[in-house]
Amino acid sequence: MYRNVVAKTLKQLPKPHKWMLSAAAGLFLVSLLLPSDDASASKHTSAVELQPNTRYPLDIKLQHLAPTTDAPVVDDEPEWQVYTVRNGDSLAKVFKRAGLSAKETHEVSRAGEHAKRLLKIMPGDKIHIALDQQKQFSALMYPLSALETLIIDKQDTGYVSNIERKEVEHRYSYAQGEIRSNFWNAAVEAGLTDNQIMSLAAIFGWDIDFALEIRQGDTFNVVFEEQYAEGVFVGYGNIVAAEFVNQGDEYRAIRYTDGNYYTPEGRSMRKSFLRAPVNFSYISSNFTTKRFHPVQKRWKAHRGTDYAANRGTPVMAAGDGKVIRSSYDRFNGHHVFIQHGEKYQTKYLHFTKRMVKVGDTVKQGQVIGTVGSTGLASGPHLHYEFLVDGVHRNPRTVQLPKAEPIDASERSAFELLAERRLQQLNTNKRIMLAMN
Ligand SMILES: [Zn+2]
Repeated sequence: MYRNVVAKTLKQLPKPHKWMLSAAAGLFLVSLLLPSDDASASKHTSAVELQPNTRYPLDIKLQHLAPTTDAPVVDDEPEWQVYTVRNGDSLAKVFKRAGLSAKETHEVSRAGEHAKRLLKIMPGDKIHIALDQQKQFSALMYPLSALETLIIDKQDTGYVSNIERKEVEHRYSYAQGEIRSNFWNAAVEAGLTDNQIMSLAAIFGWDIDFALEIRQGDTFNVVFEEQYAEGVFVGYGNIVAAEFVNQGDEYRAIRYTDGNYYTPEGRSMRKSFLRAPVNFSYISSNFTTKRFHPVQKRWKAHRGTDYAANRGTPVMAAGDGKVIRSSYDRFNGHHVFIQHGEKYQTKYLHFTKRMVKVGDTVKQGQVIGTVGSTGLASGPHLHYEFLVDGVHRNPRTVQLPKAEPIDASERSAFELLAERRLQQLNTNKRIMLAMN
């Protein structure tokens, strides 16, 4: 489990020092804790997270092809061979390697609608082919995903194609952590995948500035789905409930059947403004570094928040609005101002590149430019300002419009679900407490 998480994380960590820390800690742990590859592979948590457009073999039982009676082995029982698709392969080439004729290739590829999937084989795919005693085509199995396999079977009446689907079962799993160096490391330590970490930050992205305001001692608690097919782990589902305590403020989110997240009281987690206009994963966010601490102290004189990030880092509009300024001057460099309704304005300075022009309508989260150091800037960073009625305000402390409540027709169903999810979060806490 650690080995997978670490390997994946190393590829994506933004900063060398994190890289070194994780590498040292992770590899050391791996060497200490894992007795062998086999041992780790047998745990469901070590299953590789499924990638899109990748095919995985299925262990599908083919009773109709290989009878499992007590009768003596019959002569015409087919023999399966696995062929791995190579670069430049077509079905015809694979069939040729299997000793099959062009005519058989043609007939198999025309065995109904499903068989068309064989025209899209990719290098690395596995095709299982069974021949009969006369070395003629008998059957084919082609895993399409962790859950689906194409089966083509030669019967007396002709070639028949089917897709066998495994049933997915959702189970719940839990993770919990306390932040010591930074959020990313704590989440990886808690066993969350990259995707889950990004999702968790997105769920609370309207309340918490993950780039600048995470502190030592902050905690999180997550309940998420795991997907199983025939008892085998095949992938992760959604985060269904989560809790984050940031600088003593507690936030909780419940996923409803509409795919959105709500507070336990039924208010949308989605709000008019994102807390940070930059994704935290781009920010050198280890709060023990010097650069980090003075942000709040400096805020008054400075009237804005600085996000140090690499040149080219995408900057998002904090909320829906209209671009009222997009230009260059020698103080602000390339800068963009956005008007949000009557009351609110946000300003973004020192871009390398502006990606919107005056009059453009922008959506929350839309990329409006990239971090740079144009104008009066000592290094690449985003200088971000938040104004209410023309006055600079600290976005952390300013009172913002309340989020929308869940639709009245959904309320009672939501409340039932929320109660169950809160119980799961609490159970998780108790289990973790008992383990420590
Ligand atoms: Zn600044």
